[in-house]
Amino acid sequence: MKNITIVGAGLVGSLLSIYLAKRGHKVSVYERRPDMRTANISAGRSINLALSDRGWRGLERAGLAKEIEKIIIPMPGRMMHATDGTLTFQPYGKEGQAINSVSRGLLNKTLMSAAEQHPNVTYHFNQRALDCDLAATTMTFENTETGEQSVVQSDIIFAADGAFSVVRNKIQHTDRCNYSQEYLEHAYKELVIPPGPNGEFMIEKNALHIWARKSFMMIALPNTDATYTCTLFLPYKSTPDVPGFDQLNTEQDVLNFFNTHFPDAVPLMPTLLEDFFSNPTSSLATVRTYPWVRGNVALIGDAAHAICPFFGQGMICGFEDCVVLDECLERNGDNWEAALDEYQQLRKPSGDAIAQLALDNFIEMRDKVADPQFLLRKKIEAEMHKRFPELYTPLYTLVVFTPDVTYADAYRRGKENDALMEKILALPDIANTWNTDAAMNTIKEMLQAR
Ligand SMILES: Cc1cc2nc3c(=O)[nH]c(=O)nc-3n(C[C@H](O)[C@H](O)[C@H](O)COP(=O)(O)OP(=O)(O)OC[C@H]3O[C@@H](n4cnc5c(N)ncnc54)[C@H](O)[C@@H]3O)c2cc1C
Repeated sequence: MKNITIVGAGLVGSLLSIYLAKRGHKVSVYERRPDMRTANISAGRSINLALSDRGWRGLERAGLAKEIEKIIIPMPGRMMHATDGTLTFQPYGKEGQAINSVSRGLLNKTLMSAAEQHPNVTYHFNQRALDCDLAATTMTFENTETGEQSVVQSDIIFAADGAFSVVRNKIQHTDRCNYSQEYLEHAYKELVIPPGPNGEFMIEKNALHIWARKSFMMIALPNTDATYTCTLFLPYKSTPDVPGFDQLNTEQDVLNFFNTHFPDAVPLMPTLLEDFFSNPTSSLATVRTYPWVRGNVALIGDAAHAICPFFGQGMICGFEDCVVLDECLERNGDNWEAALDEYQQLRKPSGDAIAQLALDNFIEMRDKVADPQFLLRKKIEAEMHKRFPELYTPLYTLVVFTPDVTYADAYRRGKENDALMEKILALPDIANTWNTDAAMNTIKEMLQAR
């Protein structure tokens, strides 16, 4: 039995505490914020999240899938909103496959309560991590209410303190540690579509809504209270061709911008101006670092790999870290050094892959989803996957619906798919013939030959 400290009671820290407690360890979770189950605070970034198959796997292993199923809204596809108000529904996968909208706050609270049911888990709120002594395996915390400092010694420390991890900062300053942090040009702002007069959903409930406008976009995910959380992704700085947050300074600027680019959304957003000026404009960054482990201190979740949210996989990747770590602990018994090393070696390539996939998907979501050639490719890929599932799986399906394939393998196979699809899209008259048996036979031969 080890004494383990987890820094951060977010989504990943809370799930991890359950895994470790189930293995018989004594787990203390330190969180800088008050207990969100009793204090009236928001859960932080993004009101709701997309949860898909890889994430379910992490929850199932902790015995929590049934409970979380009660608080999700399935989204089997994206609903594209054209500027003229035309709606087009694009399924994400096969019939029966869906990603799910879930409230970040509710999910986090459910994980905390499930963890606290375990006698081996103790939560300490209002405890801000100030410092980590890697050699001594100690953390220094400050009580955010009293200012009192304490030093906590443990056998193992997991840093689940998110994208700006204090512990990672400490590891970064050790020898032979690589680190990069890249900000995106785009920032995001959350807005809301409230329920209708009778408490009804005002747009399709079971879809992830996207207003794709080439270099920027707005998305909306449904909540169980019939509201939608909208997220506007827009560059900080405008250029002659692309608008930016820096141009949206007055109420008239904002109204003009929304009326021009998202006219069908404006009547659905009665508090648009109030929300726009009271909600923060937040940055997006990709953090890559290695090693993730120094001695008995390890990074997990966003602390190890903060990524942009465009594949909806950040939390899910963190949940998968927990699953892989648990498998490593299973394989290595009491040998923590071997388990932690295996964990970082297995997860680093996948962290890097999903970071890149998320950036690539931003271009797809904002730019390509309205492009006829891209839509043709999607239709052909869906047909290929339907007819020859053993020979072809689209990248989206690999990442979102195929947890047995690692993100790193999904990335590699996605590149192979791109090369093949380029050839298929160059076949004569493919736009009109793709669905015929003759074209599909040709495609099958190409698939078998690759
Ligand atoms: C706009 C947006 C949309 C997103 N959408 C999705 C999505 O659809 N699907 C998805 O899977 N992911 C999504 N993500 C990513 C997801 O939010 C993160 O990957 C996930 O929250 C990471 O969980 P975590 O527990 O590692 O870190 P966090 O959620 O950041 O939790 C870290 C915890 O540590 C605490 N903490 C921080 N510093 C300290 C300290 N010094 N001392 C003590 N405690 C500390 C924090 O208060 C927090 O509770 C999105 C992110 C954004 C920004």
